[in-house]
Amino acid sequence: MKVTNAEIVISAVSEKQYPTDQLPEVALAGRSNVGKSSFINKLINRKNLARTSSKPGKTQTLNFYKINEAFYFVDVPGYGYAKVSKKERQKWGKMMETYFEKRSSLKAVLLITDVRHEPTNDDIQMYDYLKYYDLPVVVIATKLDKVPKSKRAKHLKRTKNLFDLEPEDILLPFSAETGEGKDEAWSILREYMGL
Ligand code: GDP
Repeated sequence: MKVTNAEIVISAVSEKQYPTDQLPEVALAGRSNVGKSSFINKLINRKNLARTSSKPGKTQTLNFYKINEAFYFVDVPGYGYAKVSKKERQKWGKMMETYFEKRSSLKAVLLITDVRHEPTNDDIQMYDYLKYYDLPVVVIATKLDKVPKSKRAKHLKRTKNLFDLEPEDILLPFSAETGEGKDEAWSILREYMGL
């Protein structure tokens, strides 16, 4: 897809701030620092629309990026920071619940995971949680460039097995560094959003 327009529309803390124009959307979930912003930036050919390397402790918001007036990427706050207080975690959980449970324009969730490492318990819990809400999930195995070519198949298989993916869910190898997987990502997104 040729992206001619990309803008952040709102960093929402509550449901009443979510956009109401009914465009389809795809959310991105993953551990803090896994490469969610880099994924968005690579897909839309921008260096820095989505903020990369966001620091923990900053306000936890759902960031809605409107692309070509056609759909939204929704950047979900990262999980897995040990330092976050219990209260913060509860707030995060509530926000996720409101969003994933009720958002009818949400077409699929991209669960970003680092292909170098085994998915963490948090990753697997997130996957199971999304399946509980019957959401289609695409696992994006990112940072592929950091794994030698000879070892990639093994890493991908391990990721797939540990998530125990349901047959309809896709595992996509990706690198924000080299752009591998970018075209496939777009065709998957188009399909889910009916674009
Ligand atoms: P976020 O917190 O999930 O949004 O993660 P970021 O997009 O900020 O990425 C965290 C760090 O990982 C940054 O230093 C990125 O440059 C790096 N990074 C993200 N994706 C890739 C990738 O595919 N390959 C490599 N080599 N580095 C990546």
